[in-house]
Amino acid sequence: MLSKETQDRLCSEAQKAKQNSYSPYSKFRVGAALLTKSNKIYTGCNVENASYGGTICAERTAFVKAVSEGEKTFIAIAIAADPEEFVSPCGFCRQFMREFGTELIVYFTTPSGKSEVHTLKELLPFSFGPENLESK
Ligand SMILES: [Zn+2]
Repeated sequence: MLSKETQDRLCSEAQKAKQNSYSPYSKFRVGAALLTKSNKIYTGCNVENASYGGTICAERTAFVKAVSEGEKTFIAIAIAADPEEFVSPCGFCRQFMREFGTELIVYFTTPSGKSEVHTLKELLPFSFGPENLESK
């Protein structure tokens, strides 16, 4: 688990990243902050598209930014939305994040500062990943 300070920072960065959400269709703003093993934080927001299918979630935006900068090892991600109820990643994002391991710590956070912690393994049990392709 992360130190309280790192956890708070990650959750606050996710809330901040939400401000850049481009969500004219759903009006559902989401932000994410991803902590790498190299101790960097990459943020992301959801970016919607008029074609709808071209939309990308905040979690994947953060991962794509990090991977495109050479990062491959991730410790934790915080996810922020506007409701006071926790918002958890969609199925597509769970599979996308799983590519990089099952031990990722996932924080759900709310605007008032509440948070809940899970692991990706809990969110996506019995998952399929790169190791499965190696065993063929
Ligand atoms: Zn998603």
